[in-house]
Amino acid sequence: MKHYLFGLFALALVNCTNGQNLDQQSKKINQTKMAAPSEPTQQVEKTEEQWKKELTPEQFYILRQKGTERAFTGKYWNHKEKGTYACAACGQELFTSEQKYDSGCGWPSFYAAVGNGRVITQVDRSHGMVRTEIMCGNCKGHLGHVFDDGPEPTGLRYCVNSVSIDFKKVELKK
Ligand SMILES: [Zn+2]
Repeated sequence: MKHYLFGLFALALVNCTNGQNLDQQSKKINQTKMAAPSEPTQQVEKTEEQWKKELTPEQFYILRQKGTERAFTGKYWNHKEKGTYACAACGQELFTSEQKYDSGCGWPSFYAAVGNGRVITQVDRSHGMVRTEIMCGNCKGHLGHVFDDGPEPTGLRYCVNSVSIDFKKVELKK
């Protein structure tokens, strides 16, 4: 646990890349079929001014300006209820609790996203690193990054900001 606290600020910038070769990692992710691009059914197009009015300042910073919440501070990194996680900006369902797992990195982590085209990717060369950014396919809201150190069956880790998603509980049938 100690090293997590130690690296907290560094981690907030790099989304825990575990020191992997990022060029290789990025190539590998781009080759996986999970990250294959396919067009979502519906597109939301709004100006940044409109988004600024609709989102909270924190949501605007992360979803529209590609910010990152500090590790272990979001509302969902340790959230274990059954349900779905939708884009906080446009409401499209992106992840479910079925694919959520405890990666220990301080952000909600999923080994897969819901369906093709709901989550889209692009290369992110900011902060002196090469990473694969993940965005909502519907509104292009920034979600986080995807890495190739996740568990089976995909081997992927979708590392998502809690601010970018809204949880909806699924009521269990009695
Ligand atoms: Zn969205």
